[in-house]
Amino acid sequence: MVLCPECDTDLDVDEDEVEEGEIVSCPECGTDFEIVTVSPIELKPVEEEIEDDEEEQETEDGDYS
Ligand SMILES: [Zn+2]
Repeated sequence: MVLCPECDTDLDVDEDEVEEGEIVSCPECGTDFEIVTVSPIELKPVEEEIEDDEEEQETEDGDYS
């Protein structure tokens, strides 16, 4: 039994049935977790990365004081 790190809901994940790198979602809080290791199961919250082409823009007009 694996509990959601966020809300302690049983995620219903069986370590025999999942693989590293798999994504599981908590039915309760909706957080997605990536399975980092399977024995024991270790979960890592998946950060939603918004992919757009905008690269990190540094402030162009430096405000030197
Ligand atoms: Zn949860």
